[in-house]
Amino acid sequence: MHDDWSLRTRAVAAGRPQRAGEPLNVPIVPASTFAAGGERAYSREDGTPTWAALEEAIGALEGGHATAFASGLATLSAVLDVLPVGAVVAVPTFSYAGTRAVLDHAERAGRLRVERIAPTNTAAWVAATERVDLVWLESPTNPTLDLVDIPAITAAAAARPRRPRVVVDNTFATPLGRRPLSLGADVVVHSATKLIGGHSDLLLGLTVTADPALAGELRAARTRGGATPGALEAWLALRGLRTLPVRLAEAGRSAALLAERLAEHPAVRVVRYPGEGTMVAFELADAAAADRVCAGLTLIRHATSLGGVESCVERRAALAGDAHVPAGLVRFSVGLEDPADLWRDLAAALDRVG
Ligand SMILES: *Cc1c(COP(=O)(O)O)cnc(C)c1O
Repeated sequence: MHDDWSLRTRAVAAGRPQRAGEPLNVPIVPASTFAAGGERAYSREDGTPTWAALEEAIGALEGGHATAFASGLATLSAVLDVLPVGAVVAVPTFSYAGTRAVLDHAERAGRLRVERIAPTNTAAWVAATERVDLVWLESPTNPTLDLVDIPAITAAAAARPRRPRVVVDNTFATPLGRRPLSLGADVVVHSATKLIGGHSDLLLGLTVTADPALAGELRAARTRGGATPGALEAWLALRGLRTLPVRLAEAGRSAALLAERLAEHPAVRVVRYPGEGTMVAFELADAAAADRVCAGLTLIRHATSLGGVESCVERRAALAGDAHVPAGLVRFSVGLEDPADLWRDLAAALDRVG
């Protein structure tokens, strides 16, 4: 890895074997145990060459030490595992429902105290840095695509005597869109299930931190918790990562175009689009109209999740954990199909409700 390589180059070149005669790609190594006396003994504790290649590549992109986990949510468990019982965690009122559910559960069980703050209320986040032990940020938020002022919050946290740890869920932005460690965050987490994997065929998560001691703690949490990635999943995630820069650029162009078109359609009340990235959310009059649009699409798939090469829509308020989301809001993950075909599909479904 060369320090002067751009992020685009790192996505392609980092985490590859370098010795003569080795394959260009680390193979899938399905191993639990290794012959005694070498650098690895047991994979849950010591990792595998396949996980290590993925971790090296993500670490090179985010600027820290990466650890791969079985899923995005397993990274949250690890981050919480290294906190003392009774710690106070600040989380967004509205963000990925799975994250909020884990924290609600920990609070009910009496393990943690939780403060909930509106994503865009920067003053409240800044004030909370005085009282809390951990700040969990997500930006843009899932599914309402609100932007959080990360530098303002990390600067406030750094200035407090209790120095709360700041964690950023970078799943939507990806390291190509934003590198939170360079903005003062202590830990970055990813659901590589989404854009990094990019093909809706795996579950995997990663933590990244520039602090070697904290990286060791998170790795120890993985060893204790046992939420290790599968061999095939790690290999596929790395394979997906190689094309992340071009997928992001292409799907991002389509998302910008479709956000504009959506805003002009009479059936659409509000378009939420942060100006970059592959996610768009649009609001229809009510739940029934949104359900009819989701059911009326033929090319765009009606399915949960996001970040794959195939475009997907979902009415998030239909999910138990997202009842606060506007009833008519459709989350739209823009993929790599021809944007002209995507718009024809959308326009036909929208014309039928509007
Ligand atoms: C999907 C998602 C997660 C959880 O990831 P899994 O891989 O499903 O466990 C976390 N954060 C965000 C923003 C997500 O979209």
